[in-house]
Amino acid sequence: MTTVHEPALHTPADELSVWPASTTEPRAGDLAVGGVPLAEIADRFGTPVYVLDESEVRERCRTYRHAFPDAEVLYAAKAFLCRAMVHWVGEEGLGLDVCSAGELELAVTTGFPAERILLHGNAKSPRDLELALRLGVGRIVIDSPSEIARLAAAVGPGRRQKVMVRVVPGVSAGGHDKIRTGTEDQKFGMSLRDGYAQHAIARILDQPRLELTGLHCHLGSQITTVKPYLAAVRRLVGLMARLHGQHGIVLPELDLGGGHGIAYRPGEPALDLTALARQVRAELTAGCAAAGLPVPRLIIEPGRAVVGPAGVAVYHVLSVKHTGEHTFVAVDGGMSDNPRPALYGVPYAPRLIGRHSAAAPAPVTVVGRHCEAGDVLAADVALPADVRPGDLLAVPVAGAYHLSMASGYNMVGRPPVAAVHAGHARLLVRRESLDDIRSRDVGL
Ligand SMILES: *Cc1c(COP(=O)(O)O)cnc(C)c1O
Repeated sequence: MTTVHEPALHTPADELSVWPASTTEPRAGDLAVGGVPLAEIADRFGTPVYVLDESEVRERCRTYRHAFPDAEVLYAAKAFLCRAMVHWVGEEGLGLDVCSAGELELAVTTGFPAERILLHGNAKSPRDLELALRLGVGRIVIDSPSEIARLAAAVGPGRRQKVMVRVVPGVSAGGHDKIRTGTEDQKFGMSLRDGYAQHAIARILDQPRLELTGLHCHLGSQITTVKPYLAAVRRLVGLMARLHGQHGIVLPELDLGGGHGIAYRPGEPALDLTALARQVRAELTAGCAAAGLPVPRLIIEPGRAVVGPAGVAVYHVLSVKHTGEHTFVAVDGGMSDNPRPALYGVPYAPRLIGRHSAAAPAPVTVVGRHCEAGDVLAADVALPADVRPGDLLAVPVAGAYHLSMASGYNMVGRPPVAAVHAGHARLLVRRESLDDIRSRDVGL
């Protein structure tokens, strides 16, 4: 017996390299993810719609568990969270990293064990801390000196809260200035250089209701090389050695945050997780040996690299306009569902789906429907020259920092999220309706 497995006849394989592994081309010009044609999803749920490949998310969780067998892997919820995500990452053995009462509440009410959750944030509200303590989160990352006494006072009598300290290692890394968080002169954490971190740690050690389990850092996002992580390990192990000398403490954990870079377009670099795991382990082991310290348990917090490549955004083309040199292809979404191009100027590689076009590729700029000239989804990309209203465009690598950063701009309503798995699609998050928009507005 032979299995019928249509090869991707019409698309060079590397063009699909940034798409979920399950992506196929069942008919010319048509793409299916998780066994479901994207055009069918657009029909059933309307557009814009975000498609999340469950197997891709799970597989990426497994890749982390495999690459970092001794580490604790916490999924960074801010990249994208919904109940299904909570469920999948939990089943795959990951913990969660949250930064608000909202993320925490969604996770815990989905059944995620609070002790496997870490709360961080540079300015946690009283409500964030109150909920975290009430639900019993595993760890809280202290980000500023003022948080120490406030948190200690909020911990109930006879209880102890595990905390970590967010340290600024003074390492510059990340895909854009706005997402570099390991350098001096940005709002996160406490600096090693000016002694702020050491001072805060001494104060934490004085608080009987706080139990310091380790240092925490997060260098930034969309980092594609291992080197900055090794520099961070060296600096943090240096601090651990000084703390051991000054206070006699041995910290059992070390959190290196997330930031692992992925390719958004074919040919772009991505962080090599196996190399990261191996080299971080080697650096940590050698550093600790030299300092006479036991090797702490490593914690990592990937967000983008878990969910980004598992998502695809599908839009309808609403208009095609030729102005001077440019062809503008406008879709029914834009900066309200994907603010990343406007925030960081990042490029995407959209594709015509749902029909086969024999037309030659032509340079176009794909724009959104919002009332700003900066609402550009992809500038100067190639699409078939006959692209027209009613066509479907799909944008791969849409799983992270799109919907989690979605806004209510122009009151177009946030798109739904559908999961695909083994030939079936199901709705995870419904579209924000006109009713939703109307009903939140309760005054006059
Ligand atoms: C944003 C963030 C992460 C995740 O970053 P990614 O780039 O999505 O991997 C992890 N830890 C902390 C503290 C963060 O702020």
